[in-house]
Amino acid sequence: MTAILSNLQAVRQAVTDATQAAGRARDTVHLLAVSKTFPAASVREAYQAGQTAFGENYLQEALDKIEVLRELPLEWHFIGPIQSNKTRPIAEHFDWVHSVDRLKIAERLSSQRPESMPPLNICLQVNVSGEASKSGVASEDVAQLAREVARLPRLKLRGLMAIPAPTESLLQQRAAFVQMHELLLAMNAQGMQLDTLSMGMSHDFAVAIQEGATIVRVGTAIFGARNYGGEQ
Ligand SMILES: *Cc1c(COP(=O)(O)O)cnc(C)c1O
Repeated sequence: MTAILSNLQAVRQAVTDATQAAGRARDTVHLLAVSKTFPAASVREAYQAGQTAFGENYLQEALDKIEVLRELPLEWHFIGPIQSNKTRPIAEHFDWVHSVDRLKIAERLSSQRPESMPPLNICLQVNVSGEASKSGVASEDVAQLAREVARLPRLKLRGLMAIPAPTESLLQQRAAFVQMHELLLAMNAQGMQLDTLSMGMSHDFAVAIQEGATIVRVGTAIFGARNYGGEQ
């Protein structure tokens, strides 16, 4: 058994356990395998082990892998910071973008999304307390941004994403996830129809699932430690 296969089996089991502990149906949580810095061969190996959704942070690296693996029925999620002059290849090659945090980026993605493709699935990245990076819209501004993004014709607004800073304190960690879940519920109470909470990484996905995550983004626990590339 390869390392990727056995890692995937362990992560899937942990996702199942966390889902059951939370009293949630197993199919409400999706595993996104974050393959940044790992080669196309690793993605192929994960695919052969049954994984079809992959997350990437670095555009050129992602485009190279998407091209090499184009014969496989994979779902690609862009989860990294977005420069406004790089939106076109994202609109043309990805199924999801998790890291939209301003209207200008959303407008460009919508106008550049090819008519031949389904609308691009979008999550708005929220800068919750303790956010590790400086990206993300402030939680008090996210509802307004969501209303504007929801009007763009070639996008499908799905929900919210966050990257809470890793912390030793389980309470603090949980508080950021709870805050995200409450934000999503409040927006839906105001008439939005968001079905996605993208939160939880290798070190904290079980807690994220307990607090309502519907997509967990797991890299290290599947592919191993990263040797190059910038951490967020
Ligand atoms: C790298 C990354 C992940 C995966 O992190 P791991 O700790 O390796 O599981 C998830 N989400 C984002 C946005 C990332 O940049």
